[in-house]
Amino acid sequence: PKVRKIAVLGARSVGKSSLIIQFVDSTFSESYYPTIANTFTKIIKHKGQEYAAEIIDTAGQDEYSILNSVHTIGTHGYVLTYSIASKSSFDMCGVIRDKILNDTGMDWVPIVLVGNKTDLGQAGQRAVTEEEGKAIAAKWGALFVETSAKVGTNVTRIFELMLAQIEKPNGEEA
Ligand code: GDP
Ligand code: MG
Repeated sequence: PKVRKIAVLGARSVGKSSLIIQFVDSTFSESYYPTIANTFTKIIKHKGQEYAAEIIDTAGQDEYSILNSVHTIGTHGYVLTYSIASKSSFDMCGVIRDKILNDTGMDWVPIVLVGNKTDLGQAGQRAVTEEEGKAIAAKWGALFVETSAKVGTNVTRIFELMLAQIEKPNGEEA
């Protein structure tokens, strides 16, 4: 199958590792996964074709340790993740996107914007509305989904949208 390299980026503790592990293993842990850099591979079907999704987990970005350019080399698509309970993690997605565009010299790259931890919304902890997420994604020409790595909601959807976004220019390839 064709290899599609996908980097999962976002502030620390938003659930990047949890989403990947939920997607690859269908499990969830309450503990924090200290990440250096890990790659996971899973076969995904898109429009009847198989793709080997090479998913790169990252240590997390903040204003001091901004995205390493290693993460843009050979990368086909970006999952930008925030927690719906953290406005600063939402803002960080914009900072990361600017850095990607700057690093790659592109004015558009395939992005799926992910608002994770929707289960905390039921607990009254929501700090970013779904409309805010949708609006910024639309502005970027990105796709958007809200998820819960804990419950397992929409986790597969992230990677379906990512493949659709990566393959968008010509739909099916020869
Ligand atoms: P990362 O630093 O972005 O990789 O974040 P982790 O995957 O290590 O998760 C950070 C913390 O948030 C851990 O305690 C996870 O159990 C928790 N977490 C991750 N996803 C969710 C979620 O969807 N809901 C809730 N309630 N907690 C989550
Ligand atoms: Mg992690």
